Amino acid sequence: SDLLMAPTKIVCVLRNYLEHAKELNSPVPDKVKFFLKPPSSLLANRGTVIIPDSVESLHHEVELAVLIGKRGRFIDVDNVKDHVMAYTVILDMTARDLQGKAKKAGLPWTEAKGYDTFAPFGPRAYPPGEFDWHHKRIWLDVNGERRQEGNTNDMLFSIERIISEVSEVMTLEPGDIFCTGTPPGV
Ligand code: ZN
Repeated sequence: SDLLMAPTKIVCVLRNYLEHAKELNSPVPDKVKFFLKPPSSLLANRGTVIIPDSVESLHHEVELAVLIGKRGRFIDVDNVKDHVMAYTVILDMTARDLQGKAKKAGLPWTEAKGYDTFAPFGPRAYPPGEFDWHHKRIWLDVNGERRQEGNTNDMLFSIERIISEVSEVMTLEPGDIFCTGTPPGV
């Protein structure tokens, strides 16, 4: 059955893979840096991503997604496991041209990341008991051609650290989704 989600927020970590930061000439952060995508950007499996007329350069960012199952704030790294409900995969679709313009102007990226259908996900979710996020290959093929490939070993910040640090800022609610950064090849 299809995975259904009703998050209050989608939290996306930036530059969590060194090779991706390099390909965009972005500095590597020393602390978890993140932005939000609106829940309205979610698109269920086999849906169609709508490319807005205003977008000239649409990038795919394949990412391991973590679904939160239990409310929490100031979650200690050792307790993060109690708050994780499942893992799935998500595409953080990004209008790179709009993002570039926003970056240059020092403005938010919300538009570049937030259009409807810019977060296709699923179809399956794996509970933590069945899935260890370490040492996992993550890749994306477009029409049979390999575009992105990486390994979760290469994440700069662990799942535990990501969730703990973000929870210092905002309360995490059941259904909330974390996008944990993308490997190179966008
Ligand atoms: Zn991303």
